[in-house]
Amino acid sequence: MKNTDDLSFDREHIWHPYSSVVHPPCIHEVVSADGVRLTLNDGRKIIDGMSSWWSAIHGYNHPRINQAAKAQIDQMSHVMFGGLTHPPAVDLARKLIDITAEPLQKVFFADSGSIAVEVAIKMAIQYWFAQGKQEKQRLLTVRNGYHGDTFGTMSVCDPDNGMHTFFNKVLPKQFFAPSPNCINDEDWSDDNIAEFREIISEHHHEIAAVVLEPIVQNAGGMRFYCPEYLRQVRALCDQYDVLLILDEIATNFGRTGRLFAYEHADICPDILCLGKSLTAGYMTLAATMCTQKVANGIAADGSGALMHGPTFMANPLACRVASESIALLLESDWQQNVKAIEQQFIDELMPYQSDKLVKDVRVMGAIGLVELHEPVDQYMDWLPTFIVEQGVWLRPFRNLIYITPPFIISSEDLTQLTTAVGTILKRLSL
Ligand SMILES: *Cc1c(COP(=O)(O)O)cnc(C)c1O
Repeated sequence: MKNTDDLSFDREHIWHPYSSVVHPPCIHEVVSADGVRLTLNDGRKIIDGMSSWWSAIHGYNHPRINQAAKAQIDQMSHVMFGGLTHPPAVDLARKLIDITAEPLQKVFFADSGSIAVEVAIKMAIQYWFAQGKQEKQRLLTVRNGYHGDTFGTMSVCDPDNGMHTFFNKVLPKQFFAPSPNCINDEDWSDDNIAEFREIISEHHHEIAAVVLEPIVQNAGGMRFYCPEYLRQVRALCDQYDVLLILDEIATNFGRTGRLFAYEHADICPDILCLGKSLTAGYMTLAATMCTQKVANGIAADGSGALMHGPTFMANPLACRVASESIALLLESDWQQNVKAIEQQFIDELMPYQSDKLVKDVRVMGAIGLVELHEPVDQYMDWLPTFIVEQGVWLRPFRNLIYITPPFIISSEDLTQLTTAVGTILKRLSL
């Protein structure tokens, strides 16, 4: 049978994310997807609780996005962006400028989230270079962050759970403040920012930018923190002449209940990174936006060129799909959908708090997660199959089982996901 062959060929030859091809991971084959359901090679349909890593916010195989993609293929799938432009890029840039904070006026189209962050770092370093401040080359971030897998981004990932051990000798050395641990503004105390303030006040002359995931830290620990922390960081960046880069790649386009997570704090970054759900999970595209001030600053030494330009920059097909996804989102009642998902997580996940395996349950917008006392990594040879047998798709990692569903999910389907979390907990306690 062909599909069985596929799996054994895959096992033999193909790398999956963070995996070995010598001791291959447990893999399932998906042959199609529609709405919130993935169809496996044996015909089973499972409910997707991951949105393909925060991406497929409208679900799969959406007729309007499909139509936009098909129309664009018939016009042109790609054309180089050096010396040329095209309607999909212009249209998408217009939309992005329109929906983000007013000072963000310039758009760089990157080919993945990691590259969007690389470009943000380059913007910041080039900005200070052009101001004659060549010594401002380092970055300040917080622990438990995740910003991508390329070298620049790895250097600002969490030094313990990131990939620093392998690449320690080649990674640039950055500054790390403790990860923000104040969840509600009402509980704010100055201690929460003390170490961050100490680092920035002591080292600002060598710091180009602060890099942060606003409000929700994704793969570095799935931690949430309060808007006041962001406001304090913004104020310190202004005080010490340091740029603020916000990495919204996971949080962008509504996931936290606001269109962008920085809106919770009512601040504006100097540089903003977008990705993941930008194309609703259809294809890879990301964007780095910046203010007029940053763009002018980069141009200040006369040359003015930002030194990045990927081959597939602003791919028309991806831009067209992204535009359609944004239009679809803004026309939908996404706030209501995300709020309903949040309430259902509160009702159906919070009770697991009392389970003896569970350390914490956290909910924000369309993000629900159960943090365990122990990691699940040692169960990953059977756990994925067990999860699929519950009729759902979840991908626990480290000590976290989390649900980030498409916004269009029905309450019945969401209940099947939250129930599966309970079944997983029961199975793990055996
Ligand atoms: C996923 C992610 C990235 C990296 O994006 P890729 O498209 O995987 O390169 C960067 N930052 C954050 C916050 C992310 O969630």
